[in-house]
Amino acid sequence: MCRHLAYLGPPTPLASLLLDPPHALVRQAWAPRDMRGGGTINADGFGVAWYPPGHAEPVRYRSAAPMWSDAALPALASATVAGAVLAAVRSATVGMPVTETAAAPFTEGPWLFSHNGVVRGWPESVAKTAGRLPVQDLITLDAPTDSALLWALIRDRLRAGAPAPEAIVDVVAEVDLAAPGSRLNLLLTDGRQLVATTAGHALSVRATPGALLVSSEPLDDGPEWQPVPDGHVLVATPSTLTLTPLGRS
Ligand code: GLN
Repeated sequence: MCRHLAYLGPPTPLASLLLDPPHALVRQAWAPRDMRGGGTINADGFGVAWYPPGHAEPVRYRSAAPMWSDAALPALASATVAGAVLAAVRSATVGMPVTETAAAPFTEGPWLFSHNGVVRGWPESVAKTAGRLPVQDLITLDAPTDSALLWALIRDRLRAGAPAPEAIVDVVAEVDLAAPGSRLNLLLTDGRQLVATTAGHALSVRATPGALLVSSEPLDDGPEWQPVPDGHVLVATPSTLTLTPLGRS
């Protein structure tokens, strides 16, 4: 299953997250350590988005190719410095298309979103839930995938003014009810706050003074990494962190 990470803190080169550490995201793409629930490598595309200094809206770079095969990425990632980053590598769920637009992060305005997991019984299980969205959202989904639908459901709540943690927790509860057994590790940021769930997959957090990094797998063997227990929602800024049970059954 996909691997993802998000960083908030002092500006850092993208390469310090994606390429340089011993277990950087590019290594998690071809040699992940903790792929619970299927999949062996994350070769079905990748994406990275960051907030350039002084910009409220992120810049996104994504591709349907494996992260390690992208010839432009090393130079881009070493030359680009940002204080807020979200990135993901994808292992497509069986039956879902391999296309650039299915690779996270999904975005609108200041928001970036990623999903690691699967919606069980897709698409029948969530057809009714999807039917509550505006038709225009349904016919313009980024891709015909579970992750793109989850993004549309969360985006709908954000547009209505829901705080990010509430939008995430509500959609997890709604999808859990419609599609029990789903794996719903989600990541959402606006570049200032980060919301992450653990619901069926691994996630670790490294909180150091003024900086926060969450990642499906630790990027190195440093002692600051802590596993986030399953079934939780983490809400954080570079200097604050709360962990609350999701109350999944
Ligand atoms: N189900 C999603 C997709 O196919 C996410 C897959 C994953 O976490 N591996 O895009």
